[in-house]
Amino acid sequence: MTKKISVVVPLYNEEAVLEHTYQRLKNVMEKLPLDYELLFVNDGSKDKTLELVQAISFADPHVKCIGFSRNFGHQVAITAGTDYASGDAVIIIDADLQDPPELIPEMVHKWQDGFDVVYAQRSKRDGETFFKKWSAKMFYRTLHKLTDVEIPVDTGDFRLMDQKVYTELKKLNEKNPFVRGLVSWLGFKQVAIEYERDARAAGETKYPLKKMLKLSIDGITSFSHQPLKLASYAGVVLSGVGFIYMLIVLFQALFTSTTVSGWSSMIVIQLLFSGFVLVILGMIGEYIGRIYDEVKDRPLYVVAEHYGFEKSRVTSDAVFMNQKAN
Ligand code: UDP
Ligand code: MG
Repeated sequence: MTKKISVVVPLYNEEAVLEHTYQRLKNVMEKLPLDYELLFVNDGSKDKTLELVQAISFADPHVKCIGFSRNFGHQVAITAGTDYASGDAVIIIDADLQDPPELIPEMVHKWQDGFDVVYAQRSKRDGETFFKKWSAKMFYRTLHKLTDVEIPVDTGDFRLMDQKVYTELKKLNEKNPFVRGLVSWLGFKQVAIEYERDARAAGETKYPLKKMLKLSIDGITSFSHQPLKLASYAGVVLSGVGFIYMLIVLFQALFTSTTVSGWSSMIVIQLLFSGFVLVILGMIGEYIGRIYDEVKDRPLYVVAEHYGFEKSRVTSDAVFMNQKAN
């Protein structure tokens, strides 16, 4: 039987590129000797994305679409895509053509050679601001240092996963998923292919600083406890410094008459320490917030509509969603 590939594409306000992306993906997929489905996930877009994707799915039986009831975020959108995928392998790709669809055949070859995960590693990034490139570089390296899980650097979510991998991924069911980290955590036979990341084909980034920060905090907090330990490390260092300073102060008090001049050092120490304590409290808060999210156990997303699925699949999806919610 011919194997089937599901291509998952998250969409948030992508009306400017959608048609172009669809054509390029279709071109690539038609040439492969495999069956395929294009699974678009509309993440609560506020522009015409949903109407466009709806029209495409009515005209092309390879296209399926699920639409969220609001914007749930990129990581949740790709998680939903893997929930609804039915292929022997799933490929996750951004809608803006920064991840070239022409890399898909190479991914598929590696998969056919027996690899379970084929991830695309960026050797170069084009058309992004200096800040974006620098912050991404710093983030991947910090995460790499902080965690024991081998999360490859400079690697986004553009990847192929075998069915056995994405079936396991679904079971993890995390509330603030950092998908690329979870896939690394799962293990299996993984391999990288290198590529140069293009500039966005049209439209603007849908990842403002706020979303970038959320993604990096999710990445670090779900894969490392090191920030929590910072308080104890810093505590040890600061008590050492404090002890030495105490000796100096005692010496001054006993043998000199300059103790009143200590006012400015008091203020400095006070500011430094209280700032530090607030930072640590905030860090602990991040972890507690995440524990709270897991305990509430709300479903990760709400689907408002689907297009292009067979009836039986939608019914079983509804059952599946209910099971997830319970
Ligand atoms: N995206 C999404 N929900 C969001 C933000 C982004 O589904 O809340 C999608 C977006 O449509 C694109 C992908 O995630 O397909 C990556 O976003 P973008 O290209 O804007 O991020 P960047 O490449 O600038 O980091
Ligand atoms: Mg992009």
